[in-house]
This record gives sequence, C-alpha cells and structure tokens, in this order.
Amino acid sequence: MFIECHIHVSMNGINLKDWRRTLLEQNYKPISEILDLYKRKNILILRDGGDNLGASLAAREMAIHKGIIYKTPGWAIYKKGRYGGIIGRPVTGIEDFKDVFAELLKVKPDHLKVVLTGLVDFSSYGQVGGVSFSYEELYYIVQTAKEKELPVMVHANSSEAVKMAIEAGADTIEHGYFINDEVLHMLAEKDVIWVPTLSPFGNIIENDELKHKYQSQIQNIKRAYNQQLETVKKAVELGVKIAIGSDAGAIGVYHSQGFFDEVKHIKRCGITENQVLKMAFENGLKALNIKPSELKLLEKSIHQNNKEF
Ligand SMILES: [Zn+2]
Repeated sequence: MFIECHIHVSMNGINLKDWRRTLLEQNYKPISEILDLYKRKNILILRDGGDNLGASLAAREMAIHKGIIYKTPGWAIYKKGRYGGIIGRPVTGIEDFKDVFAELLKVKPDHLKVVLTGLVDFSSYGQVGGVSFSYEELYYIVQTAKEKELPVMVHANSSEAVKMAIEAGADTIEHGYFINDEVLHMLAEKDVIWVPTLSPFGNIIENDELKHKYQSQIQNIKRAYNQQLETVKKAVELGVKIAIGSDAGAIGVYHSQGFFDEVKHIKRCGITENQVLKMAFENGLKALNIKPSELKLLEKSIHQNNKEF
C-alpha cells in the first residue's frame, strides 16, 4: 500500500479550465474515476492540498466507500492579493482568519493548509513571490489549528519562508524549493517532514510536448529541478524526514502516476527504490497523522474486498 502526500483533485494535470468547469457544475464523476485509478495502483492513503470548489471534500466522501483514506484541508488559507486563489480562501490578517477558520471547522478539515509564498517562477530563476504572512500572523494561524489538533501543512519556497514556517510550528513543508543548509538542519532538528515535490519540474523536462510548450523557460526549470535534487540528497544524509507527494494535478503530473514519478525522481538522489518506498510509507503515516486504528480499519477493508473477488 502506498501513501501519496500531496495531490489536488481539483486539477488534472492537463487542462485546468475544462476540469474546473466540470467540477463547478458539481459533476464529480471524474473525481470518482480518479479515486479508482489510485485504488488500482494500490495508493490507498491520500492527502489533498485543498481547493476553492469543494472538490476535495467531495472526494473525501466518495473515498470512504472505496476503501481509501482521503485527507483534505477543505480549502487552503492564503493572504488576500497573493497566490492561492484556486486552492484556497483569502484572509487579510488574524481577525479575518478567525472568521474563515470558524467556517472551515464546519467542514471538518483533516489538516490546515497555509500558503506562505507563491509558486516557483519558471521565467525567473529563484523567484518564489515573497513571504505573504508576517511571523505573528503565521504563528497565530498555525497555533490556532494545533489547538484543534489539526496538523499544519505549509506551502513555502525559499529559505526565509521555510525557516519561518518551521519556527511557527508547521508539521510539514510543501515544495521547499531554494532552501539552504541552515534550513535543512532545522528540518532535521525539529523533526519536520519535507515534501519536496520534484514531479512538476521533472515531468516537464521529460515530456517532449511540455518541453516544447515551456521552451523559453526550460533552462530555469532544469536548474531548479537539479538544485532541488541536490538539496534532497543533502536532506537524506542529514536525516530529514521526507515524504512522497507529487503535486498531482499540476501540469504534467497525472493522478496516480504522479506517485511513481515522484519515487523515480527521488531515487536520483542515490537511494534505492526500497528505501524510497519505506520512507514514503513511514513518513507518509506521520505527515497525515494516520492513527494505528485508522490503518487497521483500512487493512481490514482491503482484506474483506479481496475475499469478495
Ligand atoms: Zn499543491
């Protein structure tokens, strides 16, 4: 059984607009099909990064009947005017967050997702859109979630942002492009899980059509990918806990295949497939805060299903 720690069911890796239009019409059949794909590949524990359409919440409902554990934050929290519109709801500051968080609790999120920086800019190497929350704001947001026993996943790129997220108490760091050795040491010391999402870059580099589409930016994409591989390699040596999350739904990262793409990319750091899969499972359970009883229940349902066929 595999655990995929970073997907967006509100995107399909191909045509974002069409996909979102379908979901907006509350046609969730394609989501059901995606869940079946994961099931067929034995990826039975999933963590979504959230969306503003209710798609991941619908996916969680469907997953129950398919014998899949599906964790979703509902929607992510991002700073108004900054990146995050398609995956979350905006807040202007702490006061505003209190209201949005109260709304969020009604849909019973499994974790909180906070967007602290933008995406890695393909056109300009090393640019990630700056840090969007102040330390005080982020600390308040993270600690408020923890009071409700929600693990916190923080989307952060750059040393400055990841450092801030670790200090504020984040449980997992998503992406974490362009981070230095000091931050890696912090990740190791504080036992924070890192989900380095190599696939959105690696898959573009290895797909002829996409390589062509991103022709003018391909050198930056390659550079960022190679840099991230180097950083992951160092992180493994330092004992940082790494989990596998492909960011499936991002352009070129397809649902269910994304997990195996990410394993392939991580293996390039010089670790064996067995090591990667062991890491993926152990750290995946921790990242998603899967309780032993939950896992037992899932194993029981797999066993029963096998008997039926
Ligand atoms: Zn994501």
